[in-house]
Amino acid sequence: MTYIHDTIVRLQKTSPAQAEFYQAVEEVLDSLQPILETSEQYKRHAIIERMVEPERQIMFRVPWVDDQGNVQVNKGYRIEFNSALGPYKGGLRFHPSVNAGIIKFLGFEQIFKNALTGLPIGGGKGGANFDPKGKSDGEIMRFCQSFINELYRHIGPTTDVPAGDIGVGAREIGYMFGQYKRLTGNYDGVFTGKSLLWGGSLVRKEATGYGCVYFAEYMLESKGDTLAGKTCLVSGAGNVAIYTIEKLYQLGARPVTCSDSSGTLYHEAGINLDTLKQLKEVRKVRLNEYLVVHPDAKFIPVEDYPADGNAVWRISGQLAFPCATQNELSEADAKTLVANGCIAVSEGANMPSTQDAVEVFLDARIHYGPGKAANAGGVATSQLEMAQNASMQRWSFEEVDEKLKVIMKNIFLSASSTAAEFGEPHNLVLGANIAGFRKVADAMIEQGVV
Ligand code: NDP
Repeated sequence: MTYIHDTIVRLQKTSPAQAEFYQAVEEVLDSLQPILETSEQYKRHAIIERMVEPERQIMFRVPWVDDQGNVQVNKGYRIEFNSALGPYKGGLRFHPSVNAGIIKFLGFEQIFKNALTGLPIGGGKGGANFDPKGKSDGEIMRFCQSFINELYRHIGPTTDVPAGDIGVGAREIGYMFGQYKRLTGNYDGVFTGKSLLWGGSLVRKEATGYGCVYFAEYMLESKGDTLAGKTCLVSGAGNVAIYTIEKLYQLGARPVTCSDSSGTLYHEAGINLDTLKQLKEVRKVRLNEYLVVHPDAKFIPVEDYPADGNAVWRISGQLAFPCATQNELSEADAKTLVANGCIAVSEGANMPSTQDAVEVFLDARIHYGPGKAANAGGVATSQLEMAQNASMQRWSFEEVDEKLKVIMKNIFLSASSTAAEFGEPHNLVLGANIAGFRKVADAMIEQGVV
């Protein structure tokens, strides 16, 4: 305990004001206790001390010109956290809340997530405090080009391979790839999440959401249950949420909610997927416009949310899929979910449940799939995109989807068997953290003090 406490105190001194990063580190270190106690080589090689310190952090100015001719300046980041298992791999987030602490928490989580996939990829993350909302296409393009004017020198298909995240989809990846190609002259697999027209992989767009639902299905299957006929709560209305909803329907479940930063939508008959895609993928408008087409649905604006949590989780449902952002599910939300008969939580987003909320799920012994396991389908399919690019092949939708299913099953088995090995079979947080940690730590030891 003092080892973990000392590590957090040291981080607070050397990397001040990074609350989300300390939260992610604490959660991982807490669950590593059993392995740290029994395997002294990790201490001897200072694995924890090395793991919590990124191999490299790049911070840079991103100047660009808006449509009115004004010069704007944002802050760009790329955190290359750990390359023990392969090139740095992780998304770019464009959101006004982005800061060094958020990118570090995401990069730290990414190390273990990528290890869990069993694929040869290290952990990294990046982004900018840029708000794409309300920006014209031209502004987005100029911002992406300026971002790459600095980042291009740090990335490459065998060194660091960024992808999308909040605020970064195929359009942004396209503008960034174009500028990278112009600056380097290389047409290579430096980004994943590319358009299908020029090097993207089928299923990449759907992969995080689909994978998160497969993970839920494997959790239920382990107790002889299935998703068919279950009422599901989903938060978010972006890439992950939309394809979570799509796969839930395909497996016979009924998703009744989604949300964005303006509020929560509740449609008891089931969220209409075509309308949702039209609003969010095509028109890029607020969720309350859904009511124009479906007046029987309800919209709860954020101003009416409970003071201690999020309206999505106060609706009754058997499974919960948090797919928006970090810390969007509080302890009070978790208690309400459990009281309302929720039997499983599968996290599409990164660290969406607070640490207290996670404790509630674990104490209640419901199925709980932490983000680093349940949402690893996105990065796994990114690696499949890299493999297709490197071998100049194009696999079919069915082929990639089948590989995704196998990877998700293996992640579930790896997390659950490791949890059982350490005497807590229901605890996939402990299982996922130890399984991921062991792979990275053992590789670091074999590669020497670097
Ligand atoms: P998108 O930008 O496509 O969608 C994000 C959604 O979450 C939007 O509906 C957005 O609403 C909502 N949201 C974002 N921030 C907030 C906030 N602070 N408060 C309330 N709502 C918010 O992102 P993704 O779907 O790609 O990502 C969602 C989550 O999944 C993130 O945690 C991401 O890190 C994680 N993830 C994504 C992967 C991927 O492949 N894309 C892979 C693994 C994890 P609004 O538009 O109104 O802001």
